[in-house]
Amino acid sequence: MRWMRLAPEGFFVADDGESLRWLHSDPLTVSPQRWELGGPVDRSTAVPLLPVAPSKIVGVGRNYRAHAEELGNPVPAEPLLFLKAPSSLIGPRQPVQLPPESSRVDFEGEIALVVGQRLTRASRWESEDALAGVSCALDITARDLQRQDATFARGKSFDSFCPFGPAVRHGSSVEHLRLETRINGEVRQRGGVDQMIFAPWELLVYISRHMTLEPGDVVLTGTPSGVGPLQPGDLVEVEMEEVGTLTTPIEALQLEPPGAPPRSSEPASEMNS
Ligand code: ZN
Repeated sequence: MRWMRLAPEGFFVADDGESLRWLHSDPLTVSPQRWELGGPVDRSTAVPLLPVAPSKIVGVGRNYRAHAEELGNPVPAEPLLFLKAPSSLIGPRQPVQLPPESSRVDFEGEIALVVGQRLTRASRWESEDALAGVSCALDITARDLQRQDATFARGKSFDSFCPFGPAVRHGSSVEHLRLETRINGEVRQRGGVDQMIFAPWELLVYISRHMTLEPGDVVLTGTPSGVGPLQPGDLVEVEMEEVGTLTTPIEALQLEPPGAPPRSSEPASEMNS
């Protein structure tokens, strides 16, 4: 079972693979067996929105052996954590805007965890129980700025650097899940939970020892090998079985020329005069 948030109303819907139904329960905290479902939703007109609103996004670096090696980094003995600003989140089909401050922006397709319960110094059992579901994400990274700085904060957190969605697959049985990243239709990354150095439950145990995870928080579990730079005009797709495909166009950020007046909200008649 998956859940999504749909435009224009922004309500949750439940998707069992055959039909879409309005969802009258909180999918983060109520398990699907107890979901109250409403009427059917027309799939052909459904426009998915960003399905989460986390208090924080925790990233994990080098959680796939082959990716650590491709960037010349050692395989870490403990998870390598960083924070990505929640303001970097965008929903399905929204564009990543490449900022002029970076000359090398990479894609990193990732399996994202969605936390359903507060976790502080959690046990394995508590962590598995608190995993509300998984989704597709892109951990867009300004590689030049990441290498230049002592922390990843700047290189990971530009607006639009965290595309997420389209749906959240409910449940904590994730061992078999696999992800594929395509650029302009060409497969560039393949990876799965079974190739991770630290499993999802181990990441939640480790992160919750250092910071409390709140319901709705997102953990990016690291990227498989095959990362590479993005250009304006590229189309990125991240696909996971039982989740769907996250589609993200890439464009250059258009800045207002210096000294330009702020965008006006005056009536059109005055604008034209
Ligand atoms: Zn990453």
